[in-house]
Amino acid sequence: MTVTATTMLKVEGVNKWLGENHVLRGVDITVRKGEIVCVLGPSGSGKSTLLRCINHLDPVDGGLIEVAGERIGYEIRGGVLYEQPERAIAKARQHIGMVFQHFNLFGHMTALENVVYGPVKILKRSHEAVEKAQSLLALVGMSERASAYPSQLSGGQQQRVAIARALAMEPRLMMFDEPTSALDPELVGEVLTTMRRVAEEGMTMLVVTHEIGFAREVADRAVFMDQGRVVEDGPARDVLDNPRHERTAAFLRRVR
Ligand code: ADP
Ligand code: MG
Repeated sequence: MTVTATTMLKVEGVNKWLGENHVLRGVDITVRKGEIVCVLGPSGSGKSTLLRCINHLDPVDGGLIEVAGERIGYEIRGGVLYEQPERAIAKARQHIGMVFQHFNLFGHMTALENVVYGPVKILKRSHEAVEKAQSLLALVGMSERASAYPSQLSGGQQQRVAIARALAMEPRLMMFDEPTSALDPELVGEVLTTMRRVAEEGMTMLVVTHEIGFAREVADRAVFMDQGRVVEDGPARDVLDNPRHERTAAFLRRVR
């Protein structure tokens, strides 16, 4: 596999052990710029671990991960691979937006302050950060609640603010780890609609989700993982409507 200008994420032969568990067993995934890739798979198949390895919250035990052509967490000096100091890792991690199941907004800040905080504190932006944050809150449909505190917002609204907050850091890649699975069913739709809007903006997205409808409509590709391996990877409609592997088919029957 070669890196082209359009490769945003390259995961090659990634292995990860957690204690005695061989959690990722040679995972390969490529995401091109602007592509939406959904990752599906049973609980325990290694999806969250994969995302944690991509932004180097967990170091890999083997294999290669590159975001926009850069290895996150490592640098080569004199032909030798070194783990980068924490500061450099944090800087590289800024290029990856992460949205979790639990939104973890800053409770003492309004929605707008939550979105403005990173750009001002970390990217050293000034006045323009507020305008940018307002337009991001508009994108996620939260303009009206810009001055509300997280405790005054529903779970769906908080998750939409969390998405705006991640986008405010101008990520090259947005990763979502089951962003709707902690929500009441009636709030799932608004978050999926927001994610669809982010996709339409041209963002590159890697989305772990059990929302098959979303994956079919929005994703370019679907990747099915089981027991630490990629079992199937292809155009979303092919994988979801005509899976080639029995394990994929069995999983889809269960979640439907
Ligand atoms: P998924 O997100 O697909 O549900 P995870 O990546 O969370 O899967 O977990 C993959 C496997 O790693 C599971 O078998 C889980 O039990 C195991 N695992 C997760 N965290 C740890 C840990 N800290 N120590 C040992 N095993 C772990
Ligand atoms: Mg998980």
